[in-house]
Amino acid sequence: MKLPAFEYACPATLKEAVALLASHDGEAKPIAGGQSLMPMMAFRVAQPSLLVDLRKLPDLNKIAIDKDGVRLGAMVRWRDIQDDKRLATAHPLLLGAIAHVAHYQIRNRGTVGGSVCHADPAAEMPGIAITCDAEMTVMGKGGQRVINAKDFFLGALTTALEPDEILTEVKLPAWPVTRRLGFQEFARRRGDFAMAGIALFYDPDAGGKVGNAHVGVIGVGDKQRRLAKAEAAINGNAVNDATIAKAAEAASAEVEPQDDIHASAAYRRALTGTMVERALKSAAS
Ligand SMILES: Cc1cc2nc3c(=O)[nH]c(=O)nc-3n(C[C@H](O)[C@H](O)[C@H](O)COP(=O)(O)OP(=O)(O)OC[C@H]3O[C@@H](n4cnc5c(N)ncnc54)[C@H](O)[C@@H]3O)c2cc1C
Repeated sequence: MKLPAFEYACPATLKEAVALLASHDGEAKPIAGGQSLMPMMAFRVAQPSLLVDLRKLPDLNKIAIDKDGVRLGAMVRWRDIQDDKRLATAHPLLLGAIAHVAHYQIRNRGTVGGSVCHADPAAEMPGIAITCDAEMTVMGKGGQRVINAKDFFLGALTTALEPDEILTEVKLPAWPVTRRLGFQEFARRRGDFAMAGIALFYDPDAGGKVGNAHVGVIGVGDKQRRLAKAEAAINGNAVNDATIAKAAEAASAEVEPQDDIHASAAYRRALTGTMVERALKSAAS
């Protein structure tokens, strides 16, 4: 399909990019890899009058790691994450999740910023951002602000970004060496978007029990979210068969899936429990 007509700009500074976005009355859009935006334009779901290409903006393709955590520039691609050996210890949950993103060609071009700003409910990166309480740094004509992941994702394909704002960075808090993690997802074919996925972690204490459980669900309902009741079933307990069964049951009860062309709500509800069970077993082992 032919794309609708649009103007194109490729600014060299963030300031210039924000000014361009602000100059088009909400009709301009940033473009990262174009993997979601181009098809949306072809189908006339999006018809921006101006595309502001982010590829020349300095520093947006950097991964920085320090004692406070991992900072992913918005233009970091999936393959940059997979190629960065430091992340095996600095953020193994991120690395584990990104291995499930589509195929080589997609991972070669898709970006962190494009994924979180597109906000597909089944995408892995928003799921990791929610599970890990990420902070999103954005820059607009009013200056810079930091948005917590729980306030950033408002629903399917909807975020808290203003039309003149550009996401510059996603910060994931530091990952302690003793932390245990599990990431499980189920898709019809390898590389497809998840029908249900679970990202989780917890911190063991000296007495064999665990705390600080974070359980995030992907692909079930209209956005990624944490499952407070599943987390409560884990916190303060040893991760044994009884705890795993209780957490899986709580997660199944807590999600709010809808029937769609891929699966019934009942199937996704059951699948969520199974993903929690598998993720906890893998974390415990
Ligand atoms: C065939 C296929 C399979 C896929 N499978 C998966 C999968 O299994 N899992 C998964 O998670 N993803 C999957 N994806 C998504 C893919 O990995 C990209 O994350 C996603 O398409 C975003 O693409 P992009 O980075 O090129 O962003 P673009 O398409 O360029 O942009 C997407 C949206 O974000 C906005 N945007 C981009 N960057 C910024 C920024 N810095 N600030 C503000 N707004 C911004 C754009 O204006 C646009 O609205 C798949 C994509 C395809 C085409």
